[in-house]
Amino acid sequence: MRLTMSNVLDKFSTSLTLKIFSVCFVSTHVPLIALVVYLFTGFHNEALPVLLTVLAATLLGTAFCLSSVWSLIKPLNDVAGVVETYRSSGAVRSVRSSRQDEVGIVSNGISTLIAELDATLSQLRRQATTDVLTGLGNRRWLKDIGTLEINRAARERTPLSVVVFDLDHFKSINDQFGHDVGDQVLMMAGATIQQNLRPYDIAARIGGEEFCLVLPKTDIDDAIAVAERLRAQFEAKTVGPLPKGRVTASFGVYRGDPASETLKSMLMAADRKLYGAKNGGRNTVHSEVARSIRDARIRA
Ligand code: GH3
Ligand code: MG
Ligand code: MG
Repeated sequence: MRLTMSNVLDKFSTSLTLKIFSVCFVSTHVPLIALVVYLFTGFHNEALPVLLTVLAATLLGTAFCLSSVWSLIKPLNDVAGVVETYRSSGAVRSVRSSRQDEVGIVSNGISTLIAELDATLSQLRRQATTDVLTGLGNRRWLKDIGTLEINRAARERTPLSVVVFDLDHFKSINDQFGHDVGDQVLMMAGATIQQNLRPYDIAARIGGEEFCLVLPKTDIDDAIAVAERLRAQFEAKTVGPLPKGRVTASFGVYRGDPASETLKSMLMAADRKLYGAKNGGRNTVHSEVARSIRDARIRA
């Protein structure tokens, strides 16, 4: 390869070793260069001026060396901050270095890797907690988020209701029209649920054709109204070959007592009501208020 000026500059901009070598070379030679210039420009070779010149040049060389080394490693310092911030708070900060040497490559590489790692982790978390078919949360997510909401309701002394519902005669939809039509019904149910909830309501698919809502700040009348609205909307839908009225669901609604009950016990109570709705002819809403809440209302 021919040694041209542009080759040398290219090599210099991409090599940390060359930069460090150059900085060391220049800074250690500053006193010598200053001395030679001083003597050859006709100044006296008396000891004190020579000593002062060498001293000043040494200080200058040292300052040049320190500032150059600092600017050489500055991107590493920046990216160390990015790593620390991510590890301590999970926040992704991005730094970009325009340098093409090893320090620039490592800094930009780590910064990009952290952003990619965070995006992948978020995607995995979403996948682990989301039901792919309906886009609702899954049972595991419901357990975590539902428990948090019950604890919050207990702390803030606000009402909370849960709704469990199950599509009616869903097996016969699969048997008669095929699994794909069954899946379309589940997707319609997911979309209908999402359209009907407030941003802070929790909706999950907890079984094949079974769903659950956790409704914070919601007393029994409003929870029944939500269930009734969903029931009426399912009944009014046509899905593929299925006419209106073919897709229905039965609902169990339970106004829990966050101060004394767990998510599990509330879901069991709502489930009992759901069975009541199934036995009562399906496509209907059955409800109950926690005994402790009823008693407190009687006393009040
Ligand atoms: P009921 O009114 O008493 O609830 O009767 P059902 O037929 O709805 O209930 P059953 O438990 O007998 O049947 C549920 C069916 O749901 C059986 C299963 O094949 C179907 N299923 C479960 N998961 C899926 C799914 O992801 N897609 C489809 N298409 N069907 C599913
Ligand atoms: Mg069913
Ligand atoms: Mg079922």
